[in-house]
This record gives sequence, C-alpha cells and structure tokens, in this order.
Amino acid sequence: MKKLKVIIGLLLTVTIIALTGCSSSSQKSDSGAAGSDIKAIKDRGTLKVGVKVDVPKFGYKDPKTSKIEGFEIDLSKAVAKKILGDENKIEFEAVTAKTRGPLLDSGDVDMIAATFTITDERKKSYNFSEPYFKDSVGLMVKKSSGIKDLKGLNGKTIGVAQSATSKQAIQESAKKVGSDVKFLEFSSYPEIKAALDSGRVDCFSVDGSILYGYLDNSTTILNERFTPQEYGIASKKGNDELAKTINETIDEMKKSGELDKLIKKWGIQ
Ligand code: GLU
Repeated sequence: MKKLKVIIGLLLTVTIIALTGCSSSSQKSDSGAAGSDIKAIKDRGTLKVGVKVDVPKFGYKDPKTSKIEGFEIDLSKAVAKKILGDENKIEFEAVTAKTRGPLLDSGDVDMIAATFTITDERKKSYNFSEPYFKDSVGLMVKKSSGIKDLKGLNGKTIGVAQSATSKQAIQESAKKVGSDVKFLEFSSYPEIKAALDSGRVDCFSVDGSILYGYLDNSTTILNERFTPQEYGIASKKGNDELAKTINETIDEMKKSGELDKLIKKWGIQ
C-alpha cells in the first residue's frame, strides 16, 4: 500500500512538472510566433540605435557633458517616439563606419543613423530608409600645404576611414584628373585629423559635413566635391515592419517641415 502511494505520488509529480513545462514552453513559443520586430522593441521598452559620436552636428558626444547630440540623434528620437510614444526611450551605441554594419548584423542595435550612405552594394545587406540628407566627398588639407585641388594632390597620401565610401570616390575622381594618390586607412575621424596635423597624411577626405566638424585655423576644405551621396537609416533585412515605421517617420517629418527645421537647427545645410 505504501509502495502504491509512493508510485502515485511520483506519477503526480511527473505529471505536474510535465504540464508546467509544457505551459511555459507553449507561452514562450506563442510570444515568439506573435513577436514582430516592432513588438520586440516594445517589449524591451527601448529603441537601440547606432550613432556617430565623433561627427559634430550629426552625432557627437560632448566630452564635458557626456551627452550625445546632433541631427541624427534628433532623427532617432523621432523614431523612438513613433514606436514607443516617448523620444527618451532610446539607447545609443557609438559606431564607426567600420563597426556599424556588424553591430546591426549581431542585433546589438535595431537601427543605424550614422551618416550611412545608401549604396546599391549596401542595399544587398541592409534595409535603407528613404534619404534624409545629401552630401558629397570633400578634401581637407593644411593651409600651409598650398594644395588647391585634387590634381595638386598628385603623389600625396590621403587619409580615409575604413569601410567608408571616401576611398573609392576619390580613387575614381583622381584617375579622371590624372592624379596619382595613395591612401592610408584609419578607424576613426579624430585619428585622421591627428595624422593630418602630424604630416603623416597630406589630406583628410570624407563627406563635407563630417569634414566641417574638424576644420580649424590651420586647415582648409577645398572647393571641389566628389560623388554626391544620400544618407539613410539602416535596419536589418527581414525587420520589414521596423523599416516601414522608420520610413513613415521620415516621410511625416519631410511633409510637416520638421526635417528641414532640424537641418536648420543643426546648421548643416
Ligand atoms: N558617409 C560615408 C559612408 O557611409 C562616409 C563614412 C561615414 O559615414 O563615416 O561611407
């Protein structure tokens, strides 16, 4: 009799464990099945965004306040507001031209708003929003160099960022004007500026809007501009609902004049 009680007890325990296990796993798979990209962000309660922290006026971390601010920060806040109803429900992660793609791939961030040029090649890997800004590649040199244009950079070394569009843009344009230039690649913009200051490179090349953040008394930005390009917010392929929401946000901001207001606010026309 005692044995029977033990067996019944054991059977009951096993049944309870099995049922509990079942119900919790079915709950999990329910939420997984219903969980869309937007729902995942809502469940988490914050939008994770990769931004620049070394591009004044676009995405810049003020060393005094440690606050990140700029045009693309405001743009990202508008997307957070659209999804979560609160522009402050947002987490920023610092990215560079080299790290932004991998951080999106790994899911560390939901989207990238970081002077990311829309190219056909990049569109194969990521969803890009409609453009929110246009710029072209510029050249910064030391005033004392006397260099006036790309032709004058013949035989010189140009500092560019890794994984940026700058090298290809300048390479193609240099060929056209018969200028034979060399390149040195760096992982960040402050490093390129330091290399220009120390004479390791003769020129710092990237989009004009980024260059302006590094202009000082000893440097000048040449008048020539190359390869116009458009910036878009990138998100992971497959996160189509998110991509749609980002586009809706930009579209509404364009129509309401809010985008132009932001461009004026940051003085980046
Ligand atoms: N906008 C260019 C690019 O996407 C320049 C690099 C950068 O954004 O940092 O490659």
